[in-house]
Amino acid sequence: MTNLLFHNARVLTMEPARPYAGAVAARDGRIVAAGDETECASALGTGVERIDCGGGTLLPAFIDAHCHLLSYAASLRSVDCTAARSIADVQQAVGERASQTPPGAWVRAFGYEETSLADGRHPNRRDLDAAAPGHPVRLVHRSGHASVLNSPALRLAGIDSASEEPPGGAIDRELPSGEPSGLLLEMERAIDGATPPLGYEELAASVAEASRRFLRAGAGCVQDASPTNGRAEWALFERLISEDALPLDVVLMEGIEHLSELPESAAGGRLRRGPIKIMLHELGDGLSPDEGELARMIAEAHRAGRQVAVHAVEERAVAAAAAAIEAALRARPRPAHRHRIEHCGLLPPGLAQRLAELGIVVVSQPSFVAERGDRYLRLVPEEQQTRLYAFRTLGEAGVALAAGSDAPVTAPAPLASVAAAVERRSAAGAAVAPEQAVDRETALRWWTAGAAHAAFLEGERGALRAGLRADLALLPGDALDASPEELRSMRVAGLWLAGRRLSGQPRA
Ligand SMILES: [Zn+2]
Repeated sequence: MTNLLFHNARVLTMEPARPYAGAVAARDGRIVAAGDETECASALGTGVERIDCGGGTLLPAFIDAHCHLLSYAASLRSVDCTAARSIADVQQAVGERASQTPPGAWVRAFGYEETSLADGRHPNRRDLDAAAPGHPVRLVHRSGHASVLNSPALRLAGIDSASEEPPGGAIDRELPSGEPSGLLLEMERAIDGATPPLGYEELAASVAEASRRFLRAGAGCVQDASPTNGRAEWALFERLISEDALPLDVVLMEGIEHLSELPESAAGGRLRRGPIKIMLHELGDGLSPDEGELARMIAEAHRAGRQVAVHAVEERAVAAAAAAIEAALRARPRPAHRHRIEHCGLLPPGLAQRLAELGIVVVSQPSFVAERGDRYLRLVPEEQQTRLYAFRTLGEAGVALAAGSDAPVTAPAPLASVAAAVERRSAAGAAVAPEQAVDRETALRWWTAGAAHAAFLEGERGALRAGLRADLALLPGDALDASPEELRSMRVAGLWLAGRRLSGQPRA
């Protein structure tokens, strides 16, 4: 097979022993050397394809440590309301789609953020009825944790004034009638059950498009964090990969309710079983699930020898997740558990050291700082703001970090995420806990070696050293010297997965 010699590059190996190099040698899809050009050339011998990197930055292909591939694929078929600044904007976008959709068929929309709307409130069913009276409409909040349904959609979902809230969910109601307003919180599962799923062909086309966007952004491997993942999703991913609709390698987390349903790997190792996903939210004065139930879930997964990934955003949730993991470890110590906290939006005071001692990995989304920063600054009390997405505090305490996009919550754009971690500015330009900024190399590590470590993949990818897969991304120019603005607009110049070029046309 092919011998590849990448030269004239600023190589970031993500290997602490030798972090920088000028060339990389690969044979048959594996790296054989990273070093200077002479070293790499002699490692390969003859019959070499030379790839001139034009002085650009060559680093391991990105790994998205937390995203939701099927939701992201579905979002590409939905009306994008992320730019809406008023309910009228939402209505216009939804109305336009409805006019191109057969009567009675669902109109899906996503991405609104009530604090970004001039109206200062969530849209309701009446707003959506006015825009699309003849179609069931589902409008998903930017967080993915709330939806607004119009009246036809509520009817199809069987939600009315007599409906009771499911555990952890909430039906917002009009007063005094008690009729649902249309806003449903944490009820995605009930709504999913009422909306017709996409047909396989339609879904496969969307997944292929979603995959292309990851590849264009330099990512060749994703960790899917959907809490509903079980046998059905595994079979679907296996089919998508085997039918070439999904060119990414996938680590599929397993929802706690599906504990031990999944095999360890399939599709020739391109589909792997990841950690057990557990959702944890603040709910009123308490948590959902409560501390006892959370401890039981984590202990069960831990006893089964599995890694857990606990969704915890708010301060109390993060503290409870850490405490429950600590209790499970105390009852049954296990050094290389790599239990994860996902998001870690507000770091409780003094907890970073404890997380480091326990060996808990934090997987977060730097892009939230940019895209949701204005909301945080409004909603989080000033004295707590320094602990928002406290990456610097975590890193200095020695906590292992990894990054992801949480797509569809933010776009799969590792370089924009790095810019956000470096710059710590909101969309409106306000500083968001600027003391938590990190340097470019640190944030790039979260998207490569850090993400590999978070899923036990470091023996095969996430760094450039002999023996690992030749998964490489080439960025134009010096990524360590680029301004945040330059990082955001930087296009990946080339991507190679297992030595095969997938995109870009760098100079040969
Ligand atoms: Zn998520």
